[in-house]
Amino acid sequence: MKEKNSNDKQLIVKKINNGIVIDHIASGGSFYVLKALNIDENFPHSVFVAMNVPSKKLGRKDVLKIRNLRKDDLNLDVLGLLISGSNLVCIENYLVVHKEKIKTPKKAYGIIKCPGLSCITNLRENVKTEFDIIESNGKKEDIKLRCVYCDKMFDIHKHISLIV
Ligand SMILES: [Zn+2]
Repeated sequence: MKEKNSNDKQLIVKKINNGIVIDHIASGGSFYVLKALNIDENFPHSVFVAMNVPSKKLGRKDVLKIRNLRKDDLNLDVLGLLISGSNLVCIENYLVVHKEKIKTPKKAYGIIKCPGLSCITNLRENVKTEFDIIESNGKKEDIKLRCVYCDKMFDIHKHISLIV
């Protein structure tokens, strides 16, 4: 049977009419994206999550499909810090209207509160957060943010709830 050979493909390619697909997410990454997008039991649109599916490129990967979301609903800098290297595909009326690789941003502005409690960005409302992005060993999984005001260095994956 044909299906046996292409079962992974079918799982991944199964079409949605409108929305976004994020493919080639390093295994476990979809969990962080759902949290960062505030997708919970109250989310009104269909969400398809495939976790830990076999991938030629990554060994294992996650795939996310969210109906009725658009690129404008996403913060690409946040995604770039959580799931750099993944592919974003936007779909309208079953057609791919946009495709791009999610990249690590060089800097991050105003996307997350600083975990440093005594940081000026937490003490004064009018100071916008700004972080340098530090890649240790050139590894995408090892990205750290460093606050330009208080030097606090942290892993965004451990502070998802601070994302604004
Ligand atoms: Zn700070």
